[in-house]
Amino acid sequence: MKTVKKEDIAGLQGRRLNQGESFRFRCHPDIGCFNLCCRNLNLFLYPYDIVRLKQTLNLSAEVFLERYTDIVLREGNHFPDVLLRMAENDERTCPYLDEKGCAVYADRPDACRTFPVEHGLMFGPDGGAPKSVSFFRPPDFCLGRHEDEDWNLESWADDQEARVYNRMTRRWAAIKALFHQDPWQGQGPYGPKGKMAFMATYNMDAFRSFVFESSFLKRYRIKKERVRKMRRDDTALLGLGFEWIKLAVWNIPSQWIRPR
Ligand code: SF4
Ligand code: SF4
Repeated sequence: MKTVKKEDIAGLQGRRLNQGESFRFRCHPDIGCFNLCCRNLNLFLYPYDIVRLKQTLNLSAEVFLERYTDIVLREGNHFPDVLLRMAENDERTCPYLDEKGCAVYADRPDACRTFPVEHGLMFGPDGGAPKSVSFFRPPDFCLGRHEDEDWNLESWADDQEARVYNRMTRRWAAIKALFHQDPWQGQGPYGPKGKMAFMATYNMDAFRSFVFESSFLKRYRIKKERVRKMRRDDTALLGLGFEWIKLAVWNIPSQWIRPR
């Protein structure tokens, strides 16, 4: 999910979609371009994508990150991005593409289920809460845009079971935008604080150990009900990770977690 400035919005590619506005699209196994979109991608993985993919592949977050991703620090940012590593073949196919299609379909990443729509967060010139913006942006080779099924943002999100993904990615994108300023006070993104922030968002196995096997729960006040949920549910734990890094890195207060 991109962050965009209000003044740049008119120059972006694709057709902007407002709530309720329709677009035509249909993707099916008999279409001429089937699976062409699953190769040679810069596919960004967001924290909730990792939760779902590592569960369905029955891997720890650490092994998943090592085996399937590249972690890169882009210019002008102060927190690394996680990209799905394409296979080392001529077409650079997605590692989950097999002869039948997507082998992780039920747990495919947010970008795949939202495609050919892209969501972003728009920030105004004077700060304040960002606004969601969406664009219909199928690439030229995608023939699905010539098919005759009508959708809007809501019906598409429901059909693709993307609501939780979109919500978690929006929360993450709002935090990620804060990293456009350097918060690390000379330590850099790979210093101790940066490593903790990465763990709390991309490695739920390590973060679970950190929360439940250190003095964390003595140092922070968290509702018992929430603690119980976090013990067994990576998504609840990720929600805490988001709130904790906002508190620990920028001192942004949270109803979820308070220092004792
Ligand atoms: S390119 Fe478009 S229509 Fe073709 S398989 Fe991908 S999403 Fe479907
Ligand atoms: S995860 Fe599935 S849908 Fe996404 S690019 Fe890979 S094969 Fe295609």
